[in-house]
Amino acid sequence: MNRSRPVGRDVSCPAVIETSALAAGYAGLSVVRRLDLRLDRGEIVALLGPNGAGKTTTLMTLAGLLAPVEGEVRVLGLAPGHRPHRLARRGVALVPEDRGLFPGLTVAEHLRLARPARRLGRDESDRGATSVVEEHFPELRRLMNRACGLLSGGEQQMLAVCRALVTRPAVLMVDEMSLGLAPKIAERLLSVLKHIARERDMAVLLVEQHVHLALEVADRGYVLSHGEVVMEGDADRLRDNRGLLASAYLGGPALP
Ligand code: ATP
Repeated sequence: MNRSRPVGRDVSCPAVIETSALAAGYAGLSVVRRLDLRLDRGEIVALLGPNGAGKTTTLMTLAGLLAPVEGEVRVLGLAPGHRPHRLARRGVALVPEDRGLFPGLTVAEHLRLARPARRLGRDESDRGATSVVEEHFPELRRLMNRACGLLSGGEQQMLAVCRALVTRPAVLMVDEMSLGLAPKIAERLLSVLKHIARERDMAVLLVEQHVHLALEVADRGYVLSHGEVVMEGDADRLRDNRGLLASAYLGGPALP
């Protein structure tokens, strides 16, 4: 896979996502604490960690689906308190772990319902959807009229990612994209994300169980354990420090 650096990452520019001492959780109780996370344009960042570490909670908070318990969050310059649909219109897309598809709707209907964040005319939107399918998900072409409940897991995940990309997001968050997929399909979807991130200068935040696959495409990564970052850095460094990574993953002590 191509591991080129993101084009033009410049930390002096406003971040796409920036959190400072963020605490997030449920009913006022924090399951994520002291999170300082940054995501820049064109960058792919992996959010890693064992089950229950707080990865999904973090994504839901960044997407506006959960209110932060404390700390600061800025997503595309917007402070918390903005409703999820407003963030979505600004260009925040989330592919949730359950994919969020409607079993009774066809592939074409899902894509038609997805509208770009920056509102385009219907024709232009349809052309955008067609070009994403043609270029990156040709398998979906012959499935356009099939109800999504009849698709395989891999096809459904392609549709979920394709639908998010059709909205032309500035930032795409994907929760467990490769869950239940054959490694080859997962690898392909990750390659597509990398290609589009570079091409459109789109920021991507990836929650992944397949650590090695995520670090193949990511530029940087954070490892969460019990709701706190125990390791972060360039993907190359994380990849080359398997011992440290395993220890962080297994809930070992905080690492430098
Ligand atoms: P997984 O890979 O298992 O989804 P994760 O790293 O995404 O793990 P989260 O789903 O964010 O972890 O969960 C973090 C903690 O928050 C866990 O202890 C979980 O039990 C708890 N939790 C998750 N959802 C809720 C909820 N709706 N209400 C209360 N606690 C929750």
